[in-house]
Order: sequence, then C-alpha cells, then structure tokens
Amino acid sequence: MDLKLSRAEETPAEREAIDMLLGSPAGAAAGRDLLLPCLLSVQGRIGWVSEGALNYTCKRLDVAPAEAFGVASFYRMIALSPRPPVMAYVCEDLSCRLQGSDSICRELERRLGPPAPHHGEGSFLWQRSACLGQCDRAPAALVAHSGPVPHTAALPQASLSTLMASISGRSLSPSPGGEPRIPQFGKPGLRLLRRAGRIDPGSLEAYRAQGGGQALARALELGPAGVIAEVEASRLLGRGGAAFPTSRKWEAVARSSVHPRYLVCNADESEPGTFKDRVLLEEDPFALVEGAVIAAFATGCERGYVYVRGEYPRAAERLEQACAEAHAAGMLGPRILGQEFSFDLEVRRGAGAYICGEETALFNSIEGFRGEPRSKPPFPVTAGLFGKPTVINNVETLACIPEIVREGGAAFAAVGTRDSAGTRLFCLSGNIQRPGIYEVPMGTPLRSLLEEAGGPPPGRKIRAVLLGGAAGTFLGPGDLDLPLSFEATRAAGATLGSGAVIIFDDRADLRDSLLRLAAFFREESCGQCVPCRVGTVRQEEVLKRWLEEPRGDAAARELLLREIAQAMRDASICGLGQTAAAAVQSALLKLDLVRDSG
Ligand code: SF4
Repeated sequence: MDLKLSRAEETPAEREAIDMLLGSPAGAAAGRDLLLPCLLSVQGRIGWVSEGALNYTCKRLDVAPAEAFGVASFYRMIALSPRPPVMAYVCEDLSCRLQGSDSICRELERRLGPPAPHHGEGSFLWQRSACLGQCDRAPAALVAHSGPVPHTAALPQASLSTLMASISGRSLSPSPGGEPRIPQFGKPGLRLLRRAGRIDPGSLEAYRAQGGGQALARALELGPAGVIAEVEASRLLGRGGAAFPTSRKWEAVARSSVHPRYLVCNADESEPGTFKDRVLLEEDPFALVEGAVIAAFATGCERGYVYVRGEYPRAAERLEQACAEAHAAGMLGPRILGQEFSFDLEVRRGAGAYICGEETALFNSIEGFRGEPRSKPPFPVTAGLFGKPTVINNVETLACIPEIVREGGAAFAAVGTRDSAGTRLFCLSGNIQRPGIYEVPMGTPLRSLLEEAGGPPPGRKIRAVLLGGAAGTFLGPGDLDLPLSFEATRAAGATLGSGAVIIFDDRADLRDSLLRLAAFFREESCGQCVPCRVGTVRQEEVLKRWLEEPRGDAAARELLLREIAQAMRDASICGLGQTAAAAVQSALLKLDLVRDSG
C-alpha cells in the first residue's frame, strides 16, 4: 500500500516494543490483525502511543495511518497523548460505588488533581473506570506501570493508602491481586468450581491428577459427531447471555465445507457485576484449554483465539502459561495426542471497550479494526472471524465441555430444569455478606442463592437486586422466589444475562445507581448507529433531570423514557443498544425508584 505518513518518527524504545512483537523489519509486512497487539506493546513500554510509533506500526503492518489512528482512539487503555508512566484506574461502577469507590475518587482528586485526560507534571495519573471485574473485592482499582518490563496489577479492596502505595511502586509484586472469593470452596457437587482454589493453576500435572485431560482422550475416541451428540444430549445453552443451544452452533460450523474455520472464546466479560470468567481463567485455565480443544476437534477448527479483556492481566498470563504447557504436552499444536488433528490457540488481549464483548465487535477487534459490531446476518457460523465459519463460545460454556464429554451429556442434563440444564455460575456483589462466585443448579430460587451468600448485612433488608448486570433487570423484594432458569426469568420479564447479581440493601442510593447505569451505556455506546448513540445520551439527560428536579411532570418524563427505550430496542444494530434501557425500564416498572427518590 502507498502509505502517506507524516514526518514523525518512532523512538528507539518504541521501535523495540514493536519489533519485539513482530520480529525483524527485514521480512514481509505482518498481518493487520497484529495492530492491537502492537499498540498494546507500545502502550505498555512507553505509557502512550505517539504519532511516530503509530507511523512505524503502519509501515510494519501496511496499514493506512488514519485507519490505525481510528483503531487506537477506540480503546480506553490506549493513550494518544503523553502520559506519565503510571496509570491508575479506579472502578466507578455499581458494586464498587456501593463499597465507597466514589469517596476514594473524590479524595484522589483532592490530593492528586482531576482525573485523566487532565494531568500535571507528576509521574502518575489516575482516571475513573468502568467495571474492572473485581466486584467481589470492591472497591477495586487497576494500576498499570509502563516501562521495559510493563506491569499491570489489580488492586482489590482498594483504599487511598494501598492505591497510593501501588501508584508509587512501593507495593509491586509479580502478580498481586488477592485470591478470588470462592465461598463454596470444597463443597460437594460443584462442577465448574471443583478445582478452583484447590489446585495449582499453573500445573498441568495437578490438573491431570484431578481428572483433567480425560475428556480430550474420550473426545478423540468418540469422533467429532460423537462429541456433538453428547453436547446435544447435555442440552447446554450458551452461558454468555444469549442462551443459544451450543450443539446447534457447533453443528452449523461442522457442516460447513469452508476452511479455515476458527474457534473464538469470548473472555471479554465486561458486564458490570460479572467476574466468573476471571475466576475460571485464573484458577482453572487448563479446563478452558481442554474445552476449547474439544470444541475445535468437534467442529473442524484449525485455529483458535481467546480474547481476554485488558483489565484481566493475571487471567491472561495464566492462560498463556497454560497454553504453553499444553503445547509442550501435546494437547495443543500439531497432531494432538498423536492423532490426525492439529489446533493452535492464541491469547489476545483487549484494551478497555465493553462493546468488544459483542461477538462481531470482538472479531473486528482481533482483525485489527475498531471494535464495532457488524450487522447480522451473516452470522458467525457462516462468516465470522476473517469472514470464515467461526464457533464463538463464552468461557463458562467451554468450561462445561470437559465434564459433558467425560461424564456424558445425559449426566450433565440430569441437573437443573427441563429447559435449563446443568449448573450455572453467579457473581454476587454489593450489599451481601459473602460476595463471590457461586455455582448452583439451574432453577435454584434467587432467595436460596442470596441465603447461601449470607443475605444482606446484619440489620439491613434487601431493597432491590439487579440480575444480569447493566443490561439486566431490577427485581424487588417480592421477586426473590424467582427460579434462576432461562425459562422462569424470561417469563418474569427478567434475564440471567451474564450471571451478575448485584444486591442493594435499604441504605443503598438507588438513584445514584440508576444514573451511573445510564452514564455507563452513554460512555460505552460505540456510536455507530443513531438510535443507540443518541438514545443513550437522551436517556441519561431525562433521567438526570427527573431525579434532580423531581417536581416536574413525572408522567411525561416516564413516557419519554419509554419512547427512547422502544426506539433503542427496535432500531439498534446490536445488543448494547437493544438492552441499554432494560435496567432503567425495569426500575420504573417494578421498583418505582424514580418517584421514590423525590
Ligand atoms: S447499538 Fe450501540 S453499541 Fe451497538 S452498534 Fe449501535 S451504536 Fe454501536
């Protein structure tokens, strides 16, 4: 391509960061799909991406500079103006707000000045962030140190003093972040969590000692059709939120005559209140690898990607280690376990964009484009990643596969309800005594789940539960007997969504939470289609006016909010716009929060 580049040149350090990833510049241009990894490499090394670094990246990848700028400016974790070497992200989403993150932000502002993009001459900078997926350990922060050995670490249960220590580099360790909260640790009957916290997640040997690897051996005996038959018998529905039958997706790709085919694991869980993928990837990464290899075998995929959200550095590291170990043991790579089946799995990191959890936006992100959703059809099973047939499954879905293949689909389906088989992971956070990840059979009443987590703090009552995350629905105290199954929640006008369960007690400021939800969708809309781009702004405006001036015409404002919601639901391209009003609408319907707040 005849590239029109400005005169800005890269520095030696920027060049080194890119060459480390791409190898010597002597060879042919690398593929555009390495654009985001290049940007992340420079961001990690320097702390921001200069025009010179962008030019050099464009030369190496043969990408037009305007295109590369469009991609770089899409992601929250890529900076295009000079930044100090340390960046702190402080979560301001619902679970962290309930645990006081807003007062940490106010204190930081008092001591350090306003958040990014404003900054002074110091060696660090901070900014408010959308959910960091540490809701069980709220309030949470993430601190990124750039340099020759970049280091990003989660800071659970952050306080001003721990945050200041981490910013100043006084409390750095290779992978800090605290252990995940698995309150059911050791409980009999767990499937997905049975190894979590019990074995060394970095050891394939430890995984094998707990039955790991048996499912892959059985899958190779069963053959692709036999594996799909077991998955069909299990009645497994996708755990990412859409609840589509996994076997139907796999069959569609397996039937295709087109090659290559891809397997993509969506580990970009950015739904506020959700952290189950993080726990699975950090504590049992080989289960994901084994599930992915079996899925690839059943569907004839030659190559796979796991797209891990940028806010999960430890999960990505552990998964990369697990892939390397599985490769060395012959579970990945050419001729897996000596059979005529080869498959490679690569970990790709996101860079801070909620919308990349949408499957087609995720494909665009891997391919080196802005993470904007595509119109469907075509669906991924016919034209997904790189335009080829693609199986895309969520982490929890793939983590179910080894058990289904090892024990048989019928055994998996024996737990749960008729239309919702198996167990399900739920992420409990907010005003609850034992926040953390819980695994229960599908159909378990919400009340039982809350009781298992100890209920609300002593002396408090549950005022509301947000089920399914920001794109989910509010439930009131009268809804607590709702069975947690796909069919029961659908009938109740709710959704299990991502498995997020955020609990609000009678002290919680629901008005503040509602406004934050509206701001979240306004910030995260990719802006590609008008109903969502404008609707999310209007929704926030109306809500803000209503809550701040409660004496206005409530009926007219409620009607306006409903009309905005309807337009977004009917005319948005993707699920973000279609669900951006769901929580607000459910609050209006079920909890009458807006009037209460006046
Ligand atoms: S609905 Fe929103 S997030 Fe989805 S494509 Fe349209 S603007 Fe982008």
